[in-house]
Amino acid sequence: MAKEPKISVGVMAAQEPIEFHLLTSFEVNGKITLSPGDYKVCLDRGRVSLLTHEGQLITRDRLIRLLPKRFQESRLLLRQIPIGRGFHWEGRQDLTLQGEFQVQCSKGKELQVISWLPLEMYLSSVIGSEMSGTAPLEFLKAHAVISRSWAMRIMEGKGSVSLSPSSTPEPTEDTILRWTGTEIHQGFDVCADDHCQRYRGFLEETARNTESAVRETRGEILTYKDETCDTRYSKCCGGMTENFSTAWEDQNVPYLRGLHDNDRPSPGFSFPLSEERNAEAWITGSPEAFCKTRNREILETVLSPSDRTTRDFYRWETSHSQDEICGIVTQKTGRQLGWIRDLLALERGASGRISRLRIVGTARTLTVGKELEIRRILSPTHLYSSALVIKKEGERRDGIPSAFRLTGAGWGHGVGLCQIGAAVMATHGRTYGEILRHYFPNTHLSKLYGSAEVR
Ligand SMILES: [Zn+2]
Ligand SMILES: [Zn+2]
Repeated sequence: MAKEPKISVGVMAAQEPIEFHLLTSFEVNGKITLSPGDYKVCLDRGRVSLLTHEGQLITRDRLIRLLPKRFQESRLLLRQIPIGRGFHWEGRQDLTLQGEFQVQCSKGKELQVISWLPLEMYLSSVIGSEMSGTAPLEFLKAHAVISRSWAMRIMEGKGSVSLSPSSTPEPTEDTILRWTGTEIHQGFDVCADDHCQRYRGFLEETARNTESAVRETRGEILTYKDETCDTRYSKCCGGMTENFSTAWEDQNVPYLRGLHDNDRPSPGFSFPLSEERNAEAWITGSPEAFCKTRNREILETVLSPSDRTTRDFYRWETSHSQDEICGIVTQKTGRQLGWIRDLLALERGASGRISRLRIVGTARTLTVGKELEIRRILSPTHLYSSALVIKKEGERRDGIPSAFRLTGAGWGHGVGLCQIGAAVMATHGRTYGEILRHYFPNTHLSKLYGSAEVR
């Protein structure tokens, strides 16, 4: 059985000198011992200089490696490092790190701080940063397996299942088709920011459930035909999960396909939801599903505090006046379509999510996709999902509606595991194995490595 791998996390990059504080002793490049205190690193003609706080040179090398004397107790503090870049929670935060470090020069002009640590230690921090430790244990265990599989795929150099992650087609005169690929980092496996998984370093207190979830699934990943799975997840599927190709490349991923988020199809509805009439009844209806819950306790353990402002995401509604929709569409697409006459679903996926939408304007018509791009274009920020029924309201003149009412289902792309549904399953007594088998059909739990090594 393989050994537990170490993962390299790109913690920060900067063009100016980086100051850090050592709380324990470290060894530099295998020769010098640094005692606890303040230090800084800066770039010097393509090399990295390590200096005392007062600016005295300690060593200068191609890269600086800091090895802890004792792994478990080792601590390094980086102050006020940027987080959530490009997201609405952008800010700065202190970061305490544990393990082994490397400072290197990237692209000849930037300092890169990389933290090396055992994968399980990384997972405890990631799960502890993203989830509440009071979430049901079997749900957290399912999440630990998903996060581990995701990290393993990256370390295997695969990332997304897509063959050409960033090769979305060039926009044309009448079509914009976009999706986001998993960009693979240069020089390290994962970044510490939300682009990969939010990594908050060493956490003073890891909740009991988080720690147990990682420990009890140690070394376990999800595989399909001996390959590590691309384990996608989103907040709430809306009652039916979605196919991979509705959100990303036109590719069939056998374990990422639409399925009922329940033990049996909700009675009174017709399928498939890719058909307009069925989708309309589904989205405007209230089908039974694991993720159909308003249980405050469950929602609070699964959603982060900034996401808890709403509880109506299983089914939701919003509307735009003609002026609003016209303004948003112009701003988001950068094209002048005139007044909006109609919004037509051209293609829907298994969960009813629209993957191609036709925007009919008085000046021209534009087709947009896939699901995330539609959510972006039809809202000042982002719509919860593209599982939408769009109704025209009133008439200004010449068949131009005065408003559009959007009724939607779910939150996120809906592909893979539905977080709310999985948490509800756990409270119903389902095991993490049952949860994973439900959302990722025909996959297996495989143990890559076993008992903890003595460090
Ligand atoms: Zn990243
Ligand atoms: Zn669901």
